[in-house]
Amino acid sequence: MFIRAKALVQKQPQRLLFSTQSWVQQQAQLPAELEERVSQTLDAMRTNGTYKAERIITTPQEASIQVEGSGSNVVNFCANNYLGLANHPQVVERASEYLHKWGNGLSSVRFICGTQAIHKQLEDKITQFYSRKQSDTILYASCFDANAGVFESLLTEKDAVISDSLNHASIIDGVRLSRARRFRYRNGDVEDLDAKLTQAKDEGCRVKLVVTDGVFSMDGVIAPLRDVCDVVERHQAVLVVDDAHATGVVGETGRGTGEYWGVAPRIHLVNSTLGKALGGASGGYTSGNSLLIELLRNTSRPYLFSNTLAPSVVGAAAAALDILSSQQGTPLLERLWANAKHFRQRMSEAGFELAGKDHAIIPVMLGDARKATQMANALLKRGIYVIGFSYPVVPKDQARIRVQMSAAHSTEQIDHAVDAFVEVGRDLHVIPN
Ligand SMILES: *Cc1c(COP(=O)(O)O)cnc(C)c1O
Repeated sequence: MFIRAKALVQKQPQRLLFSTQSWVQQQAQLPAELEERVSQTLDAMRTNGTYKAERIITTPQEASIQVEGSGSNVVNFCANNYLGLANHPQVVERASEYLHKWGNGLSSVRFICGTQAIHKQLEDKITQFYSRKQSDTILYASCFDANAGVFESLLTEKDAVISDSLNHASIIDGVRLSRARRFRYRNGDVEDLDAKLTQAKDEGCRVKLVVTDGVFSMDGVIAPLRDVCDVVERHQAVLVVDDAHATGVVGETGRGTGEYWGVAPRIHLVNSTLGKALGGASGGYTSGNSLLIELLRNTSRPYLFSNTLAPSVVGAAAAALDILSSQQGTPLLERLWANAKHFRQRMSEAGFELAGKDHAIIPVMLGDARKATQMANALLKRGIYVIGFSYPVVPKDQARIRVQMSAAHSTEQIDHAVDAFVEVGRDLHVIPN
């Protein structure tokens, strides 16, 4: 075999790996129907204002960044960089150290030959972070993947998922992949959750799994987990919480919504991300009941069929968790809450209507979609980078600007933002002159 292959190679004329042709080749033609449909869809999005034009950042992700097309630096209030770790020197250093020591990547999924010692160490670190008995953690390439894997693995067509109506898109997609019956309860409404659990039982569903975001990120609202836990336990159901906007942010030591409500041991599984507070790169995990985690490692499709997390990303997340668990953690969280409180207070005093509570996401409610866009654009001109959200991301006539605090912001930067909001708010008649 080997000799024949070698002979073949020798007989092949030399071929260039990359084309040196100076002309550009034509794209394969699309079927007319598809081309027309896609063009119309995009045009409609441009017309109704839902087309997403990405702004290009020309610096690392920090409190103050540079955005292509706007000359000077702007203060960034739209990243999930809650602790300011996205470009923290210790995080970058550990990422670089792991890159050099462990290589760029594994070219494999975990179960074939993609598990290094550092992957197990990070899983253990996350398990310890939650410090619950009989628990384990499984890493994913993203929290989106964690949500894509969990429901299909755990549930059959005899079971039920009861999902909060405002849950993240990745939960909705993950639930769709499972064959379980689907129920939806009104956002944060435990009475409706109770009713849906009763309905699922009456309809003969066996295992009933309740899933909720820990924090509803468009509203900056924390899910009422203590009441949710009571209802879940009364129905002997299973609880999965997606804590993407809570890990490293919510709770006295940043351990999430379980810590905030004092119910961490009552949550069966926590899904979360390494791509927000914990260093901001990428990666996600499911942490909790070790029996369930063992099954996920064996059947979860995004785990089995997608590449292992890059060593540099593992290093960055490990460093972020170390910072949070060390003496450095408390001052970061204190800074974050002081910033959030200061912004809330000054904005309320200025007459703005704010939503949410106890979170670094502070939505400034405007109602009108055009006003939200105009306001965001005017703020950018004044050096404040925020994003307006409107339908269909939030309900009609509830357009808003979502402001996200970070421990990396200085008081001066927050005051600058409030001053800019006040100026623009007066111009646009959002607040009285
Ligand atoms: C951001 C987010 C995700 C996706 O996290 P990735 O790790 O970026 O895939 C999932 N769920 C919720 C609630 C989120 O906010």
